[in-house]
Amino acid sequence: MAGEKPPLYAGVVVEAPVTKVFHYRISDAILDSLAPGDRVEVPFGKRSIRGVVVSISPIPPIAPNLIKEISIAPAGAERIPGDILELARWAAKYYRTGWGTVLAAAVPAGVKRGSGKRSAREIRPLAVLDALETEAERTARRAPKQAECLRALVQWFRERPGGRLFSDTDGLPVAASGVVLHQIAKKGLISFTVPEGGMTKVVDSGDRPRLSSEQQSAVDEIAAAMDGGTFASFLLHGATGSGKTEVYMRLIGKTVAAGRGALVLVPEISLTPQTVARFEARFGHLAVLHSHLSDGERAEHWRRLRNGELKLAVGARSALFAPLADLGLVIVDEEHERTYKQDNDPRYHARDLGLVRASLAGAVAVLGSATPSLESWVNCLSGKHRLAAMPSRVGGARPPEVAVVDLRREWADVKQPALISRELGRSLKECLARREQAILFLNRRGFHTIVRCAACGDALECPDCDVALTHHRREALMRCGYCGRTFSVPEHCPTCGAKVLRFGGAGTERVEDVLGSLFPKARLLRMDSDSMSAKDAHRNALASFARGEYDILLGTQMVAKGLDFPNVTLVGVLMADAALGLSDFRASERTFQLVTQVIGRAGRAEKPGLAVVQAFQPEHPAVRFAVAQNYAGFVETELPDRRRRGYPPFGRMARLVFSGEKRGAVEEEARHAGAAAESTLAPGLRVLGPAPCEIERLQKLHRRHLILFAPNHVALSEWLERAGLKPGEERGVKTTLDIDPVSMQ
Ligand code: ADP
Ligand code: ZN
Repeated sequence: MAGEKPPLYAGVVVEAPVTKVFHYRISDAILDSLAPGDRVEVPFGKRSIRGVVVSISPIPPIAPNLIKEISIAPAGAERIPGDILELARWAAKYYRTGWGTVLAAAVPAGVKRGSGKRSAREIRPLAVLDALETEAERTARRAPKQAECLRALVQWFRERPGGRLFSDTDGLPVAASGVVLHQIAKKGLISFTVPEGGMTKVVDSGDRPRLSSEQQSAVDEIAAAMDGGTFASFLLHGATGSGKTEVYMRLIGKTVAAGRGALVLVPEISLTPQTVARFEARFGHLAVLHSHLSDGERAEHWRRLRNGELKLAVGARSALFAPLADLGLVIVDEEHERTYKQDNDPRYHARDLGLVRASLAGAVAVLGSATPSLESWVNCLSGKHRLAAMPSRVGGARPPEVAVVDLRREWADVKQPALISRELGRSLKECLARREQAILFLNRRGFHTIVRCAACGDALECPDCDVALTHHRREALMRCGYCGRTFSVPEHCPTCGAKVLRFGGAGTERVEDVLGSLFPKARLLRMDSDSMSAKDAHRNALASFARGEYDILLGTQMVAKGLDFPNVTLVGVLMADAALGLSDFRASERTFQLVTQVIGRAGRAEKPGLAVVQAFQPEHPAVRFAVAQNYAGFVETELPDRRRRGYPPFGRMARLVFSGEKRGAVEEEARHAGAAAESTLAPGLRVLGPAPCEIERLQKLHRRHLILFAPNHVALSEWLERAGLKPGEERGVKTTLDIDPVSMQ
């Protein structure tokens, strides 16, 4: 029996490593309801598979009798908006992966299933916070949940004066269930109500400082572009402490006031609690998208962004795909951060896709940093981005003074390896005497970073990873920094059996010990991924540092990111050039960025700041220009070098990694790929390898890589196509393809 309506065909992309779009005839039952963006289940070979409809057309793409019929559409799942489909298509093509693969990463699990729905209420204290605290003490015994909830509310409002808290705000304590909040509301201590005027009202509250003249001209210039209504991109090059966040917030305020959506990307939500808290305090209703959300919460955010109830989304990398309606502004904070690059499939760069998303939406993109990536800087020089510069600090704060300590001389003078130089020791003592705070930075974890046998010379390595193990004395174990496997501390060398193991190198744990003996009275907070593994550990630790409960904050790169504490007047960089030896062409750039950022934590308010930078090669440009806080100087030495060697930003790279349990098979596969690349060479193209990866073995897998260089993306992409190089898995060897790689390990 023929249907009355002419048949329609759906193009479907599936969650499988295939790049093709498959076509299916739409069954009559769902003919009227199915639309692009819908999730479906389709026959695929002998089984059925999940997919997303990307097109609907009356024209059959191939002989209609070969087309299978699509019938099942999972109930309750959300429709993916057209611009997200388009962005995913763009990303799949650029990164040479499946459209369905990108969509699978773009849409959270809860949305795919269509779970969870509740309406948000606003929680407001009706008494002074001290009263809430007293009540918490009073009820601690009888109603521990209420007490816990009260204490959490007090902390939340203390950290965000004037902030607006909603029942769906992330980071709300587990104890703050609706029932408990109602009980507290009954006591008259808080109100817990659905705000008037529905949920669509975006709040723009909180104190707004008077903008500095540099902030004002940045805001004016970017706002003018927003009025233009077409895509434009800006690099906001603002010194540390120049007040970039305030500029973002003014632009967001303007965007949401115009009824449009704003997207803010930050490097890592859990590492930037201060920045997130500022957005929360200013804009009551926003979606903070981070990894600790439940599926239901995530689905709820997604739905409300999609229907325009929420107009502001803040999140890390994957928030890029937040389904904001009518997007007007995309902000990428600390755009130079490498965490924006996803290190598994799809291997996209959120900054770059953020620009694409803005351009597809006709929105304005703002990339902010004190130390822009060379990629963005060159895009600025070529006129792709416009530059908004804020070279000075706000509020009359001056750039910190910087003193350099040459560790070669220091070690020779004191006749032993010194982690804390005499100069840094003196400055710490003075800082502590003034009751001010210090931040110390060392990018190495553990107690000892290397354990070597004095007889045979072998260093202790992870048997799975070919990486030196670090010694953690407090836990009395050895740990692999890559796979996390732990081992007991051996007495004998596992290679030759001699009992002469030498422990060397220093990580944060050892510095903690040294500081303990130098300054026994100082309250020390160590912050690295060993000490900060619990969910809110990082946020809570920073909050107590802010309250002045610690004198010294010691940590790895965690302490380099965006921290803003007015009482920090001293910064110590213990080994500025620790990462310069790496065989990564960005080692210099990264060192410059890290050291500049850490120095930038000192003296951000009225009190002047000092940074003491210790290094073995203080004359290295990466250290020298960071010390001078001279971005232009660094760029002027680094760019010609990159150009000469054909490295990004002047050329483009693709990296293929081959990994597997059998070394022979891995080498074979890599050789094969290398030959395919060689035989399809053209002028301007260059191959490196195949060669062992820097980490030759990782979690028991042998690893080889092949690096392709081309003058631009199109040439690179065409070459990969010609050579037939693509990701996959064959004969026990996995091949991954990374376009514009960031990690070279
Ligand atoms: P950065 O550019 O390093 O990201 P922040 O955005 O963290 O700087 O701002 C540094 C500090 O200056 C913050 O404490 C912020 O509240 C404050 N600030 C920002 N703008 C102003 C202003 N116009 N007047 C006074 N203080 C400001
Ligand atoms: Zn390991």
